Amino acid sequence: MATSFVDKARITVKAGAGGNGCVSFHREKYIAAGGPDGGDGGCGGSIILQVDDNLSTLMDFRYKRKYTAENGADGQSSRKTGKDGASLTIRVPRGTLVRDAETGEIIQDMSGSEPYVLCKGGKGGWGNSHFATPTRQAPRFAKSGLPGESHDVVLELKLLADVGLVGFPNVGKSTLLSVVSKARPKIANYHFTTLFPNLGVVYVEEGRSFVMADIPGIIEGASEGAGLGHDFLRHIDRCRLLVHLVDVSGSEGRDPVADFDAINQELRQYSPDLASRPQIVVANKVDIMADTSLLEDLRSHVEGLGYPLFPLSAAAHQGVQELIYAIAQRLQELPPVTVYQPEYVKRPPVVDTSVPVEITVEDGVYFVEGPWLQRLIANTNFGDYESRMWFDKMLREAGVFAQMEELGIQDGDLVSMYNLEFEYQH
Ligand code: GDP
Ligand code: MG
Repeated sequence: MATSFVDKARITVKAGAGGNGCVSFHREKYIAAGGPDGGDGGCGGSIILQVDDNLSTLMDFRYKRKYTAENGADGQSSRKTGKDGASLTIRVPRGTLVRDAETGEIIQDMSGSEPYVLCKGGKGGWGNSHFATPTRQAPRFAKSGLPGESHDVVLELKLLADVGLVGFPNVGKSTLLSVVSKARPKIANYHFTTLFPNLGVVYVEEGRSFVMADIPGIIEGASEGAGLGHDFLRHIDRCRLLVHLVDVSGSEGRDPVADFDAINQELRQYSPDLASRPQIVVANKVDIMADTSLLEDLRSHVEGLGYPLFPLSAAAHQGVQELIYAIAQRLQELPPVTVYQPEYVKRPPVVDTSVPVEITVEDGVYFVEGPWLQRLIANTNFGDYESRMWFDKMLREAGVFAQMEELGIQDGDLVSMYNLEFEYQH
C-alpha cells in the first residue's frame, strides 16, 4: 500500500543576484562636462521560510523543487538606484526541519512563527558616481552585482505535538483522537487505516489545551523497516508524553501484556530516548471486554513498571474526561516540546581558482574580475577575521597578487574587486 503522505522533500533554493551599477555622466543642455551620475544596482530578493498552519504535509514540494527569488534591477543615470528584487516566501508546515542536503545538519527548525531568511539576495554593484575622487573625476566603470546565495536543502516534517498516541493498528487511536478533539481521522476496522498523521487540539478547560498526534499504527518489526510504521515514528520524536493504547477486549485474540511489551520494544529499537519518554497506558474497548482478567493482568504488569493505567471506551465515551485531565496534569510537570538547535555552520565556499582572473588598470586602479572571485566575495563575511584570512589565502594561492605585481602594482595603489576596494599592501 503506497502512502501519499509526503514528509520529506529535497529542494534547491536560490536568492536573486544584485543589479549592476551604472556608468553615466550628468548631461544638461548648455553644460559641457557633467560629473558621473550612474546609480547602484538594486539588491537581489532573498529566500524566506515561513510557517503556515494550513499546511500539514510537504506535498507541494514534490511537484516544485526549484525556488528562485527575483534579481535586483540595474542602476540608472541621475544616481537612480535599481529596484530591489522581490523576496520569495516559501510556506512550510509547522515543525519542518530544514537540513543541509549534503551533510544532513539542521539549518533551522521551523516551529516558531518568525520568518527565517534561508538565502540572502546579492548586493547591488556600485554605479560610477561612487568612484569619483579628486584625482579620478570621470570614472568610466561601475561594478557588477553579486550573486545571491543558493542552497540544496532537505525539508523534513517532525510534527509539533505534546502527546503522541502509540499502539497496534485497530486499538482505537483514531477513535480516541476524534472523541477528544475536533480532528476527524479515518476510522475503520482493518489494520493500517491511518496513512496521514493527524493532529488534534484537545480542550481541557478555559485557557488550557494540548495537541495530540495520531500516527499510523506501529507493527512489530516496524523499527527495522518491516512495516509502514517505521517512517512515522519520527513524528512522535518531539512529543512530551506518549499515550499508549492497548486493546483489552480480547476480541482479536490478542494478549494485551504481549502487545504492550511489543510496542515498547519497537520504540526502544527506534530510539531509546523515545522509549523512555513518560507514558500513560490506556486499556481501550472495555465496553466489549469479555473477560476482566485481561485488564487486570495488564494493570499489574504496567503498574509494576511504574506506568499509570486508565481503562477506557473511546467508542462509548467512557473514562475519556478522566484521561484528558490525567494527561493535562502530567503535561504540566513536563518540559516543553523539543525545538532543535541549528547545527549547520556556513563554510567558506570551495571555488575552482584554476581559471585566471582578468585584471585591467584604469586611472591607476587595479580592477580584478572573474566568475570565481565574484562567488568568493559574495560568500565571504568580511566582518569576520578568519573569513578575511581565508579570502586572502585564496587570492594568494590563485596567484592574483603575483598577477598584479607583474603589472607593476605598488604599495598604496587601489585594488577594486566588485564591491570591495582596498589599498594594496605587499
Ligand atoms: P486505530 O487503528 O488504532 O486508529 O483504531 P481505530 O480508531 O481506527 O479503531 C479501530 C476499530 O475499533 C474501529 O472499528 C472502531 O470503531 C473500534 N473501536 C475503537 N474504540 C473502541 C471502543 O472503545 N470500543 C469498541 N467496541 N470499539 C472501538
Ligand atoms: Mg488509526
